[in-house]
Amino acid sequence: MRAGGIETVRRILCIFPRYTSSFGTFEYAYPLTDGVKAFMPPQGLLLIAAYLPANWPVRFVDENIRAATNEDFEWAEAVLVSGMHIQRQQMNDICRRAHAFDLAVAIGGPSVSACPDYYPSFDYLHVGELGDATDELIARLARDPSRPAQQVVLRTADRVPMTEFPIPAYELAEIKRYFLGSIQYSSGCPYQCEFCDIPGLYGRNPRLKTPQQITAELDKLVECGVTGSVYFVDDNFIGNRKAAVDLLPHLIEWQKKTGYVVRLACEATLNIAKRPEILEKMREAFFVTIFCGIETPDPDALKAMHKDHNMMVPILEGVHIINQYGMEVVSGIIMGLDTDKPETGEALLAFVDESKIPLLTINLLQALPKTPLWDRLTRENRLIDDDSRDSNVDFLLPYEQVVNSWRKCMEVAYQPEKLYARYQYQVDFTYANRLKVPVTPEQKSWANIKRGLIMLRNIFWKVGVLGDYRKVFWKFALSRLRHGDIEGLIASAMIGHHLIMFARAASGGQQNASNYSMRLREASVPAE
Ligand code: SF4
Repeated sequence: MRAGGIETVRRILCIFPRYTSSFGTFEYAYPLTDGVKAFMPPQGLLLIAAYLPANWPVRFVDENIRAATNEDFEWAEAVLVSGMHIQRQQMNDICRRAHAFDLAVAIGGPSVSACPDYYPSFDYLHVGELGDATDELIARLARDPSRPAQQVVLRTADRVPMTEFPIPAYELAEIKRYFLGSIQYSSGCPYQCEFCDIPGLYGRNPRLKTPQQITAELDKLVECGVTGSVYFVDDNFIGNRKAAVDLLPHLIEWQKKTGYVVRLACEATLNIAKRPEILEKMREAFFVTIFCGIETPDPDALKAMHKDHNMMVPILEGVHIINQYGMEVVSGIIMGLDTDKPETGEALLAFVDESKIPLLTINLLQALPKTPLWDRLTRENRLIDDDSRDSNVDFLLPYEQVVNSWRKCMEVAYQPEKLYARYQYQVDFTYANRLKVPVTPEQKSWANIKRGLIMLRNIFWKVGVLGDYRKVFWKFALSRLRHGDIEGLIASAMIGHHLIMFARAASGGQQNASNYSMRLREASVPAE
């Protein structure tokens, strides 16, 4: 569904801000690819672009790929921006640049919805999801695109049902320049983990699209050139278990029809390990990765943060069960919790070794607005507004001790020998359980072979020849080559390289300890 009934034509420039370097965006892997420049296509902005009246010309610029130019701003009659807290400075910078061309700028998305006061310079604040605020914004721009005398705040009271969402305007994005494709089936999560802003922003009763919408979106992503993996950005893929069960047969059908053209990945709570019927169907739909917010192996800490559902199955057993269905677990980990002790770092490293999870995003606790954690720390007077710190939380342990422990964990967990040993385990005990899918004509095409050769050349040269951990790399690579597993080699080498390089920068103090930290953000520059 699009906004309708509007005669006037407006030229709209949608700009997605640049990310700063982060563990979860894999930028150290990009130079090993065939031209990837950004992480995932932004769902929200592409959705709004698709919702605008059909007769409005829209340009989409992702500044992770290229910066918006003077020509873009001169062409536009209004600018739309969206992003997360971590992109706050970049969003304010886009606003400043657009105002230099006297353009009205509207901001929407999760950051402004949680914290409207972060964005005093914008002309329009779109607070909340797609809905009546969006219609009002479009109507106002249609009437008069010039900058209003004062900031206008539009709040969605009446949301557009997800079943009426149009397919995001993937055709406006350079899909091939993204590391992963993205897609969204549901929004919201029934749990209430203390640190998480999802239930506060999107509700506890997940809203859903239909399976038919999802397969149509997958068709469009493929049409737009997606290859490799597509990530379900749903906050919790099993937030509504029945919905997951309803969707999976459609995904299986779609994969069979298209020849398993993409691998699938999602985020889900670890208690998915208790649902073999879901895991089996996910395997059949060629899900290969699940991101689980394990957060900590410490049961007391899980209790304290209200994430008891992670303990419905012993954590290591849960990871092992998921691996048995051919799916690698990626884990979120938080340090700096109130329950942390001096020995927490050691315990975490033991967990990394035992779980054999290659990729763990280890972050320091950060309190986000609109979370129970934020409210509690405000009451306890433990929020610190200081951009030179790696977290806004006044930890119970000394700050330096917590940061040093985080650095040590990054340094040890991502030593090349340790990381590649975990990947070897995944090859032997996880990937071996994956569905054996037929080789598609697309995979045999010259374009795909050429792509693989470019990536192999980059990996062999930058890691196998120039890399200082080349011995470890070659031991793994030769075994993969002997098994003819080129795809597995490319995937592990690319992600492994990012993890090793990022962890080195982090343990040397050159990267943020938190995905949300503002430290070092000053150094970020717009895309060239
Ligand atoms: S389960 Fe995940 S998405 Fe749901 S509230 Fe907890 S952290 Fe947030």
